[in-house]
Amino acid sequence: MKATPRAALSTATDVIATTMGELQLVPIWHATLALALADKIVLVDPWSKAPADRIPKADLILITDIHPDHLDVAAIDEARKSGTIIIGPAAAAKRVPDMIALGNGEQREALGIGITAVPMYNLKRGPEAGQLYHDKGRGNGYLLAIGDTKLYISGDTECTPEMRALRDVDLALVCMNLPYTMPPEEAAECVKAFRPAILVPYHYRGSELDTLAKALAGQEGIELRLRDFYRP
Ligand SMILES: [Zn+2]
Repeated sequence: MKATPRAALSTATDVIATTMGELQLVPIWHATLALALADKIVLVDPWSKAPADRIPKADLILITDIHPDHLDVAAIDEARKSGTIIIGPAAAAKRVPDMIALGNGEQREALGIGITAVPMYNLKRGPEAGQLYHDKGRGNGYLLAIGDTKLYISGDTECTPEMRALRDVDLALVCMNLPYTMPPEEAAECVKAFRPAILVPYHYRGSELDTLAKALAGQEGIELRLRDFYRP
């Protein structure tokens, strides 16, 4: 049996007050996370590798990219229910018939949440010379406006100009891992550029979070919160 939204709420690690009510962050696994807002659940990148029963039924599902840790059609089908809104980049929408395609820079509202697709891509890292793991334009990070609270989910990216240019982010979920995204040192440099009030690293398997903490030590106004995205 799948977990109910209420069960998901019990594993929330952070509660943020917004003008739309309490927002709870629920780390699930790697890039999979849920946001609970009143009685609604927003689910990001559900992946079947998450421990059984930890992925809740969702009202809104956001997909960032086509790689298997982000686009898992079976996990989406498990998490959906009647009326679930699914939003993702066009490359992912090809695999899920009712997914609403959102392109980089485009905006849409769902559940009263403003959703802006932010480019996510590699600047230099790829499987071989001349190739990138994530090409610009294919995947989406997301900037969510939840009442007057701004939440950023980076997706798999390096430190792009678009991330650096973000402002007034209340909570940022930023990826780090090699070889696909960026190391903690680069993530820290990016975070220092856009200065979110709270930083929660995610999608960090194999990364030294101590390195991130050291790089951000003494940064007034940026609170680093380390959460376990690999709890068995
Ligand atoms: Zn990934």
